[in-house]
Amino acid sequence: MPQTFQFGRFSVSRIEEMLTPGFDPAFLFPEYTSEILATQPLLSGEGFWHAASGKLMSSMHSWLIRTEDHVILIDTGCGNGKYRALPLFERFHQLNKPYLQQLALAGVQPHHVTLVINTHLHVDHVGWNTQWRNGAWTPTFPNAKYIFGQHEFKHWSAGGEGLQRLPENQAVIEDSVVPIVQAGLHELADDGAEIIPGLRMHDLSGHTQGQMMVMLDDGHRCAVFPGDALHQPMQIYEPTWNSRFCELQDIAIASRMRLLEHCADRGACLFPAHFGRPHGGWVHRQGEHFSFQPLQTHELV
Ligand SMILES: [Zn+2]
Repeated sequence: MPQTFQFGRFSVSRIEEMLTPGFDPAFLFPEYTSEILATQPLLSGEGFWHAASGKLMSSMHSWLIRTEDHVILIDTGCGNGKYRALPLFERFHQLNKPYLQQLALAGVQPHHVTLVINTHLHVDHVGWNTQWRNGAWTPTFPNAKYIFGQHEFKHWSAGGEGLQRLPENQAVIEDSVVPIVQAGLHELADDGAEIIPGLRMHDLSGHTQGQMMVMLDDGHRCAVFPGDALHQPMQIYEPTWNSRFCELQDIAIASRMRLLEHCADRGACLFPAHFGRPHGGWVHRQGEHFSFQPLQTHELV
């Protein structure tokens, strides 16, 4: 059974696509120094660090949010059977992962999903938007509205800068975004858009020009789904470390700082897109810095 976390009328579950060693930290973070593993032992624990290969643990998953009326998926991983034979995307090429079975274990069938929210339109966030059916890429969740950030959608459309910066993403847009638009299932959200009561999308640009985060607030407790503003918990300790995939360097750092301040000051639980086990947690202020407290087993239901 997937892990589930309860926020008043919202439940949050992780739907795994894969959990593997990912990038070498020096590749992912150009400013990386290994000292951080000595000064913050949490980061070299097996949840976040794969000692045998010296690589960072990397999770691909969706966050499933359920209310009485809604079944919502935030980000949709890499998808099965997609042609990603480029060196940068090797890990995502022609996958055959039991993602929909994981979703079924949580009691959800594709037709139950009412909303899909893509924080941004990178290869590892839109994959299960579609699946190969009857000779075409078709929406996996036929009854869902798919929500893209207004600015992010333009960024990857003709005339936007996205494909000039990252031409590798062209096939991704073609097989995982365009079929949604052609099926008339997409909607565009602006900064601050209320998706359903208690759930809003806000600008968190920097990683991509139009990345958005999802903020959950049940009136008492808050949670944040920040997409790739943070790839790894070490960025909580070193918020100026951008990943090599961040498009706007200064804005990415400013957004990350704003996110961490919000999590620490509001007590918002952080549910990033790629953290290793246990995949989410709390951010605390520590003097002028921040620290991370992973979710504990007893916090899960
Ligand atoms: Zn990502």
